[in-house]
Amino acid sequence: MALIVQKYGGTSVGSIEKIRKVAERVIESSERGNRLVVVLSAMAGQTDALIKLSKEITETPDPRELDVLMATGEQVSVSLFAMAVKSMGYDCHSLLGFQAAIHTDQVYGKARIRKVDTDRLLKELDEGRIVAVAGFQGIDEETNITTLGRGGSDTTAVALAAALNADLCEIFTDVEGVFSADPSICTHAKKLKRISYEEMLELASLGAKVLEIRSVEFAKKFNVPIHVRSSFTRNEGTMVAAENKEMEKILVSGIVFDRNQARITMVKVPDRPGIAFRIFTPVSKAGIVVDMIIQNTSAEGRADLTFTVTKTDFQKTIELVREVAKEIGAEKVLGDQDIAKVSLVGLGMRNHAGVATTMFEALSKENINISMISTSEIKISCVIEEKYIELAVRALHEAFGLGDEKQED
Ligand code: ASP
Ligand code: MG
Repeated sequence: MALIVQKYGGTSVGSIEKIRKVAERVIESSERGNRLVVVLSAMAGQTDALIKLSKEITETPDPRELDVLMATGEQVSVSLFAMAVKSMGYDCHSLLGFQAAIHTDQVYGKARIRKVDTDRLLKELDEGRIVAVAGFQGIDEETNITTLGRGGSDTTAVALAAALNADLCEIFTDVEGVFSADPSICTHAKKLKRISYEEMLELASLGAKVLEIRSVEFAKKFNVPIHVRSSFTRNEGTMVAAENKEMEKILVSGIVFDRNQARITMVKVPDRPGIAFRIFTPVSKAGIVVDMIIQNTSAEGRADLTFTVTKTDFQKTIELVREVAKEIGAEKVLGDQDIAKVSLVGLGMRNHAGVATTMFEALSKENINISMISTSEIKISCVIEEKYIELAVRALHEAFGLGDEKQED
C-alpha cells in the first residue's frame, strides 16, 4: 500500500464542479489501494480577495490578523472537498494546519515549517480515511496561526510527504508539467520527463512559476520525489527528483526568462576600498535584492558599476543610489527598465564547454545585443533588450535542439 500526498492548486479547486472532479480523482486513487493525504489551496482568486478585503480596513493590515484571515481560504476548500468525498460514500476528514500539527516559526506571511507531528495524520489514515489538509498554513509556538508565503501549499504538501515518509508527492496544477520553455511563446516546447532538484531550483528562481521555490528546497533536502502534473488530464507530468547519470548528459534542460528586471549604472565611481560596501548597504537595508553586478576595470582611478534589480524595486533603488553617488562623488547614475533576462539551465553544463558560445552565437544571429552576462555551475543568464525576449527564447530553444524527440527520453 503506497502512501501518497497529493496537492491540488487553486485553479484545480476553483469551483464546486472542479472540487467534485478532484474528489472523484482522489477516490479513484484510494480505490487503487493508496493511502491518501490531500493538500488543497484556496479556491482560485480567494486569497487575493481576502487580501483586498483587509486593505479596505487599512493599507497596512496587521500581519498576525492577516494570516488569520488568509488561512480561511484553505479552510473553505478543504471542508467543501471533504463534504464532496463523503457525499460519494467515502470517509474523509479535513484538517487545518494546527490540527495537522504543522509547526512553524513566527514570521507571519512567510513562516517556515519547523516540524510536523504525524500522530494525528497517521491516526486518521489508520482509521481508513482520506485526509484533506489545508495548505499554506501552520501554527507557531504560541498557537498563533501563520501562513507560509504565497504559493505555500506546495511546501505544505512536500513537508507532509517528508514527515510521513510518503512514497510520492503529486502536485496537480493547471499545466502539464515542466517544459523546456514557456509553451505559450515557444510552440515547440517539450514537456520534460525528469528534472533534477538543482535544475528546478534554478528554473524557479529565474522565473519559472510551476513550483514554489521553497517546496523544491524542501524536496531536495528530504529527497522527496515530486510528480508535477495536470489536474485536468490524465497525462504523465514531470518528475522532479535527485539527479542521476542520465540527467547529466542533457546539456540544457530549460530556458526561462524574466521581464521583471531593470538595470542601474553608476558612472565614474571612485575606485577605492569600501565603495561597493557604501553603495549596496542602503540597498540591502531596504530589503532590495540585487541580482547581477558588473564593475569594469578602472581608468584614472574611476570605474563604472552596473547592476540589476527587479523593475518593482527600480524606483526605490535609483533614489537610494543617487544619494550615495552624491556622497562619494560619482559622476552620474543611469537607469534602464526596458531589459529582460534570459537563462539556460542544465546539469550537463558542468562538464561541457561551449554552451555559452552556442548561446552567444544564437543571439548574435538574431542581432540581439547582450548587455550583461552571468554564469553559475548549471546556468547562464544574459540581459538583453526586453522587446527581443520572445525571439531570444525561440532562437535558443532552436539552437539547443530542445524541441527534438531525443529530449523526451
Ligand atoms: N492560497 C495561497 C495563495 O494563493 C497558497 C497557495 O495557493 O498555494 O498564495
Ligand atoms: Mg497556488
